[in-house]
Amino acid sequence: MGEHASGGSSKRGKSAKKTASAPEKTSQRAAPVKKAAEEAAPAGKAAGEAAVVKKAVPARSVGKKAAPAKRAAAAKGAAKKAAVVKKAAPVKKAASVKKIAVRPPAGESPTALVRRARRINRELAEVYPYAHPELDFENPFQLLVATVLSAQTTDLRVNQTTPALFARYPTPEDLAAANPEEVEEILRPCGFFRAKTKSVIGLSRALTEDFGGEVPGKLEDLVKLPGVGRKTAFVVLGNAFGRPGITVDTHFQRLVRRWQWTEETDPDKIEAAVGALFPKSDWTDLSHHVIWHGRRICHARKPACGACPIAPLCPAYGEGETDPEKAQKLLKYEKGGFPGQRLKPPQAYLDAGGKPAPPLGAA
Ligand code: SF4
Repeated sequence: MGEHASGGSSKRGKSAKKTASAPEKTSQRAAPVKKAAEEAAPAGKAAGEAAVVKKAVPARSVGKKAAPAKRAAAAKGAAKKAAVVKKAAPVKKAASVKKIAVRPPAGESPTALVRRARRINRELAEVYPYAHPELDFENPFQLLVATVLSAQTTDLRVNQTTPALFARYPTPEDLAAANPEEVEEILRPCGFFRAKTKSVIGLSRALTEDFGGEVPGKLEDLVKLPGVGRKTAFVVLGNAFGRPGITVDTHFQRLVRRWQWTEETDPDKIEAAVGALFPKSDWTDLSHHVIWHGRRICHARKPACGACPIAPLCPAYGEGETDPEKAQKLLKYEKGGFPGQRLKPPQAYLDAGGKPAPPLGAA
């Protein structure tokens, strides 16, 4: 599953609560980068990690990346130019890098790593106060099926496909008894539609036969369902049941490596390593923040470093485009002024200026 989600059923109440508070949260978050820089100084001092660069920069390189002086200059330029470049109404200002903190992950102490990781999460929470699961769903069954369908495709495509599926087969019993050829036709836009048809019908049969037609709310039960691994299980637990979970998808894996939170490459080990850096209660929102940042700014091929609000905290700054104007053009979804992935996004997203995705076939 390329993507993930949250906000549902029993824990939907919780999501709705959170959603309602989002605008207030938004109003409190002026100048996140400034805040990052301000925070970096004492923490870095305490842990011997980061030093905020204002003028001259100590000659300390970060891996193969741009030299600190270059980074500082680029960031300074980014701050100036960002004020000039007025993109079409991004939900929140995409980013303005005012100061760059030089931090040396090599040799970073465990305490410093925890501080830096949590600071990144806090900054991302300021940038994406409306972060939410990007799969449309109304109950745990829909979220489970949508998450299975999201493998090898975008959440947008899944969201454009599932309305027809759930209108025709609203319950596990309905889908378990479905004619596979009819389901295949509905799922065709998602790609791998034959395999996915088999998965969701098999999944629905297991739910019907083994769990009384209900999606179980425990990890050990969820992973027994055909086609459901830990990632899918945590998406469902975190977002439909309000139980903390880390969703290690492709974005999550890429970003935590760039941030040097862990050197692990196995998803289960990444989950354990990153989980150890944060309180459990942060896990679900952390997953949203990281994945949202990966989709909007820190892309696989061309990360928009010059428009990245957490550049001061990132050891991989310079891996992507550092020119602020060019970086702005790389931004996706609401950060670039475009629609999101959900056809029915939460109200907080709409209130912040986000646009719903168009239905299948719309221009
Ligand atoms: S690699 Fe670039 S875009 Fe990604 S988090 Fe670091 S500074 Fe931001």
